[in-house]
Order: sequence, then C-alpha cells, then structure tokens
Amino acid sequence: MEERDKRRVGEEVEPGGRPKAPGRLELLQRFVNSYNHDFPADWDRIGSSEKAEEWLRQKRLVAPGDRVSEVEAARLRQLREAIRALVMANHGGDPAPAADVIREASRAAPLSVAIDDAGRTALEPAGRGVDGAVATLLGILHEAQLTGHWSRLKGCRQCEYAFFDRSKNRSAAWCAMSICGNRTKNRTYRRRRARSHAVPTSRS
Ligand SMILES: [Zn+2]
Repeated sequence: MEERDKRRVGEEVEPGGRPKAPGRLELLQRFVNSYNHDFPADWDRIGSSEKAEEWLRQKRLVAPGDRVSEVEAARLRQLREAIRALVMANHGGDPAPAADVIREASRAAPLSVAIDDAGRTALEPAGRGVDGAVATLLGILHEAQLTGHWSRLKGCRQCEYAFFDRSKNRSAAWCAMSICGNRTKNRTYRRRRARSHAVPTSRS
C-alpha cells in the first residue's frame, strides 16, 4: 500500500476494501481507527488538541465554536484505546480493565432521551464540547450492543485495526488478509523455519 493510501486508512480507505460498520457504529469505528499502531505516531488524527478539535468538528461531534484542550485530547485518546481494548475483547479476553476506563469517561458525559414530534426517541448528549462528543460515542456503543452489531466489531489480531466482521461464522481475525493475515502467516512460517533450523543435528 502506498503512503498516500495508508494515510487515508480508517477514513476513506478500509483495509481489504471491507465495508465499514453499519449505521452510526461507523463513527465509533472511525474513532477507534483515528490511529493505527502500525503507522507513525504523528499520524494520530486526535494526537493534539488542534487535531482532535478538527477531527471532532469534521464528524459534527462538537459545535464549530467548541474548543478542545490538550487534557481533553489526551482523555479522548485514553477513551479510544479503552474502546479498542473492548473491541479486541470481542475475540475473547478480559474486557474489565477497558470497562473501568470507559465507566470513568461516562461519568462526565451524561446522555438524555430525546423525543421528537412523531414520538421517536434518540439518545442525545446532555452536555457539549468534548463531554458531549464522548456522550455521543458512548451512546453509539450502547446502541450497537442493543442491535447486536457490537459483537461483530473486532480488532485485527495483528495491528488492532477495528473492522466489521460480516462473515457468516464471525471468524475473521485480521483487518485484511492481504496485509495482516499474510504478515502473521509469514511470521509463523519464519518462526517455524527458524525453530527447525535451530534443532541441533549431531550428524551434520
Ligand atoms: Zn491488521
């Protein structure tokens, strides 16, 4: 993959051309994928207050006049990594430490049930700014758990990229076979080879 395309991964580009998560879950998926551990640290889309502000505004998670401080940007990154850990736990594993961080974040980010003239309900953030954005993201997390879509959002075992598993038996383990799956296989192969070569041979 060329650098130009790599820089678009998580936004315009999905590894392997996979469709993004359905409905509003796509926004939460983009949030988790605002950074990928395989890419340079300065590619983090919420890596500073300015970047976080720009990203949140672009996603309409904050109003145009809302500011994001460095502390808030750091809080967002911490929440992102906790949600990533929760996504990774969808393969199995202990979600409790991540749940702890998310529980803490939700305390400052209340949601309320909004109702329109047709009687339809929606979860809406009670606050604004970063707290409002966090509330919206946690509302999406909650909705996805109600619809059952949440369990299909998984973290690539290789690079922890959040992808939506549409396979029938929910068995996908990597973001895209062509990138991470092969890399994992190659590594296993190299490890096996190294091991077989390391076997002491008294006759040689
Ligand atoms: Zn991957």
